[in-house]
Amino acid sequence: MSDDNCIFCKIVKKEIPATIIYEDDHVLAFEDLNPQAPVHCLVITKKHIVGGNDMTPEDTIALGHMLLAGKKVAEIKNIADDGYRFVINTGAHGGQRVFHIHLHVMGGRPLSWPPG
Ligand code: 5GP
Ligand code: ZN
Repeated sequence: MSDDNCIFCKIVKKEIPATIIYEDDHVLAFEDLNPQAPVHCLVITKKHIVGGNDMTPEDTIALGHMLLAGKKVAEIKNIADDGYRFVINTGAHGGQRVFHIHLHVMGGRPLSWPPG
């Protein structure tokens, strides 16, 4: 369930601090340490899922909670009406650097498309 060497598992276990925005049985949402937009939060599953390639049907409920928690974060951070972006980076070309699945919730300014 949890990986002792994983920084996001340590945040789930409250072994390292994070500014938590939302929590339920399946997910935790917190502020990104190095924000790339005025609002930049992360939603993670409490289960250690490495990334997009590692999702299985048994993760359906947790992953559904991750998306719905992203919507809650947008409401809490007051960016729901203006709009925002959900991002899940996967693997080397996707730019993934933390190998515990996470949803970026970004907003607070217009975001360019496509990403570089
Ligand atoms: P990735 O590139 O894997 O999609 O995104 C990882 C994100 O995690 C980055 O935006 C990075 O700033 C954030 N991050 C990495 N380590 C920590 C940490 O210890 N605490 C928090 N709050 N965010 C982190
Ligand atoms: Zn983990």
